[in-house]
Amino acid sequence: MQAPDAKSLICEHCGAELQPVLMPDAGGWGQDPHWVCFNDHCTYFLEGWSWMWERYRVRASYRFRIVDSVNETVSPLPVWSKSALRNLIIKTPNGHPNARVEHPEA
Ligand SMILES: [Zn+2]
Repeated sequence: MQAPDAKSLICEHCGAELQPVLMPDAGGWGQDPHWVCFNDHCTYFLEGWSWMWERYRVRASYRFRIVDSVNETVSPLPVWSKSALRNLIIKTPNGHPNARVEHPEA
């Protein structure tokens, strides 16, 4: 039921559909949604905890992210818990998480 021009962005690590996220401080990334894997069983997310701990002694991980507005650059999104940043997921009108949406405040 996707629109013809809507493409599915898929996590390279677990195959889950990426969720559109609006970053409060996008910095140089622009205002377009970022696409993030919020699968708590994603290997990228799971392995990130030990990676961060071994190198930085930090209890944190990161989720797979594609920054669509920058030529689909893959850039890890640091998170400090399973629930971190979930509140930033954009709720789409048709309920499809991968549907393109406009900036809600625009
Ligand atoms: Zn994933």
